[in-house]
Amino acid sequence: MSVEVPAPRHIRLTSHSGGTGALPVRWGAATPAERGPVVGTTGQRSHRNVIGTHSGSYSVYRALAVAAGALSRQHRADLTNTSPTDPIGPYPQWSDPGKIVSLDPWGADVAQVFAGEIAAGYDVRPTIAVTKAHVILPEVIEALQKGRLKADGKFLTAGGAALVTKAAIEPVWWLPGVAKRFGCSETDLRRVLFEETGGMYPELVTRSDLEVFLPPIGGQTIYIFGNPHDLADPAVELTARVHDECNGSDVFGSDICTCRPYLTHAIEECIRGAQPPSAGGRGGVGLIAYSRKEGRALGEVTKFLVYNARKRQVGGDTADQYFARTECVAGVQDMRFQELMPDVLHWLGVRKIHRLVSMSNMKFDAITGSGIEVGERVNIPDELIPADARVEMDAKMAAGYFTPGEVPTAEKLKQTKGRGLNE
Ligand SMILES: [Zn+2]
Repeated sequence: MSVEVPAPRHIRLTSHSGGTGALPVRWGAATPAERGPVVGTTGQRSHRNVIGTHSGSYSVYRALAVAAGALSRQHRADLTNTSPTDPIGPYPQWSDPGKIVSLDPWGADVAQVFAGEIAAGYDVRPTIAVTKAHVILPEVIEALQKGRLKADGKFLTAGGAALVTKAAIEPVWWLPGVAKRFGCSETDLRRVLFEETGGMYPELVTRSDLEVFLPPIGGQTIYIFGNPHDLADPAVELTARVHDECNGSDVFGSDICTCRPYLTHAIEECIRGAQPPSAGGRGGVGLIAYSRKEGRALGEVTKFLVYNARKRQVGGDTADQYFARTECVAGVQDMRFQELMPDVLHWLGVRKIHRLVSMSNMKFDAITGSGIEVGERVNIPDELIPADARVEMDAKMAAGYFTPGEVPTAEKLKQTKGRGLNE
């Protein structure tokens, strides 16, 4: 599978304008024609109108594939039959530059709305893909067996498969808007992004004319239970969870935290939320927005170091030291910064979340602060919390996370203790 890699005669720096030919991007413009396509191609330097390149962190694998001779630099995606299974939007939020700053609302529709530019030779790539799937989870099958859920054949099959529409979203940052969300100047944001990535993107500091950055980070995946159009209708009851990635619990069932139980509980709520009343459902729509922000966006290495620090400290793993141990290792308690999270909700046209399955005040504040109304907050039933995760739950409740029940006292926090490392 060897593809010949033509040796470039010189290194292709992106730090200065490659000449004419790049189309302007007017972020927040009402129509795709006025907004212009996001062109992050490395193939035709003069067409680039953004900093960075496509595929988030996977851009590095793309580079490896080129280096290994497996991928041609000039490859263009054949987008035949790749269009969204369910069209999303456009919604009024798409043309409000304050509402969406970290994804391209037109990113799923580029083959259609930028067909002219693609025909003219511009390498415009989708940054969003929308498809359909059946999701089958043991927790949902158990809910069926215990009678908490009933199969209806349309939203949930007798075999326990939930029918969903799902979308994958790559980050596309409009730097002036991102800076505003974080309360810093765009100049400072650009400089710090440049310096803290080891100088990875010189255009951050040399090309102030380029306002859009494709950052080398993970994106988001959304799962929609029910009709995606209903998400934008505040008259239809929306059950939603915004979930941050936790590989250890979400995938491997590690019991030190509540991530997977919370996620599967939310999926159960979303299925019930979408199902018709005849199947015991609420006749609405459900949404899970999953962000790739492993270990509070500190990464899994830091997370595992914190686990050891928690379990080896004098007195063992207690809830009163939960946040302190993270801060000792990472320098902060949390780097997820929910400021950009509501963008995906605005992309979907959401104006009201009737039932928010989350105990995080950071998420709640970010959502309501962005202009989306939240009705009820739904927390995880006690019986779904693994014993070792009690430390995290009590620490979070004492720190002000939402709970309809009692807030643990300082004395109780000292007593809430997790397993030792060798237990
Ligand atoms: Zn977790």
